[in-house]
Amino acid sequence: MLILHTEQLFSITLKDLNEASVKITGILREDMIGTDFLNYFTEPQKAREVYQQVFEKNFVADYPLTIRHINGKLTDVLYNASLYKDNYGKVLGVIATARDVTQQKLLEKKLIEYKHFFNHSADFSCIANTQGYFEILNPNFEKVLGYSEKELLDNKFVYFVHPDDVESTQKEVDKLKTGAVTINFVNRYRKKDGNYLWFDWNATPDTATGKLYAIARDITEKKKAETNLIQLSLELARSNQDLEQFAYIASHDLQEPLRTISSFVQLLDKNKSETIDEETKEYFQFITKATDKMKNLIRDLLAYSRVGKSIELSTVDCNIILKEVIAEMDTSIKESKAQITSAILPKVKGNEVQLKKLFQNLISNGIKFRKKNSIPEINISVEEKETEYVFAVKDNGIGIEDKNIDKVFLLFQRLNSETEYSGTGIGLAICKKIVAMHGGKIWVDSKMGEGSAFSFTLPK
Ligand code: ADP
Repeated sequence: MLILHTEQLFSITLKDLNEASVKITGILREDMIGTDFLNYFTEPQKAREVYQQVFEKNFVADYPLTIRHINGKLTDVLYNASLYKDNYGKVLGVIATARDVTQQKLLEKKLIEYKHFFNHSADFSCIANTQGYFEILNPNFEKVLGYSEKELLDNKFVYFVHPDDVESTQKEVDKLKTGAVTINFVNRYRKKDGNYLWFDWNATPDTATGKLYAIARDITEKKKAETNLIQLSLELARSNQDLEQFAYIASHDLQEPLRTISSFVQLLDKNKSETIDEETKEYFQFITKATDKMKNLIRDLLAYSRVGKSIELSTVDCNIILKEVIAEMDTSIKESKAQITSAILPKVKGNEVQLKKLFQNLISNGIKFRKKNSIPEINISVEEKETEYVFAVKDNGIGIEDKNIDKVFLLFQRLNSETEYSGTGIGLAICKKIVAMHGGKIWVDSKMGEGSAFSFTLPK
């Protein structure tokens, strides 16, 4: 509060003031008394106008001014002043009070900033009430959905939600009533033109009023991409299935005529061996060789198409299956004098038959593709990672040329000559399929002439 001496209107001197005035200016009471009142304002001219008004109307109400502290700090105030008279009505001065509105002004400024965000955000921001209506919407709703503000406010918000999403939306909103702090959900919103947009919502309630503060993001494009991806992978799965079915039927049905050919060749060879000449005999040998090869091809192709058909999973102890594989390969191990060593292996969740086949194929390749005049050494190791095991089957064999590294897992791909190394080129394709079916990856590191390491992962 200030009491001002106003004998002369244009030099307004301070007569007295209270403690709050000292605080706001930072100047002692005795130092302020007698000084020009206008000194303490950032806009003295405006402060002077206040006093002109007081004399014209006897008072002034809530006049905005800014007071400067000696340390430079500014305080926004609302000024109220009235004339101060003696018993005879003679004007003695002016009594003035100022209310500090700095905080209020800051809030207003913040509010304007928020409003700016609200109005110009690319998201959809709104406040909804407990009756299920929007109360405030940012302009994006009108702009993107194509409705007028009135249409948006006059209908319950579920009116705009896709019929299939109404129930789930209601469920989410109900969660807030039972104390959820925020909810996050997606639903489809109908545009005026009938098309739908996918909205990803984040909402939080104001516990005092029960109102819902919600922000939505348009994720329509993302959803579209996701749907396309699902569609594509479904199509891929279907065409893979078709292909497997085809391979299965083809290989199965091919066996029959092949059996007939080879048995008649055998009959001819046996029954007519005296009457046929050496050249014809040689031709028969070629035919037998070719039919044998075809038998193997068909056998392996059938095995390939069968992987994935049995999907029975159990806990498999890899140490046990490795032991069984080695026992079954006894002949070729003895013949080649192969040395097989292994680390202690883990138990994994998988299909026992197929995991056995995986180890068997990798180990038998390690033996088969050995260097001439050398004893094959094969080591099986495992590394435990956070979510998976990385197995490796390492050999000291002929190795694989860099340029062929990617080819070895393809169906029917063989890198070496038939006469040197027999095979159908299906073994590693089967390995790849088995590992993929178990949710893992397979790859090979190799150096020509030094050996190969086939690694594969199995999830824990
Ligand atoms: P197959 O053994 O019937 O030829 P695979 O699918 O098992 O068929 O292997 C494909 C090709 O990859 C083989 O023909 C061979 O050239 C190469 N390969 C596989 N394993 C090894 C290995 N351990 N060392 C060198 N080459 C290998």
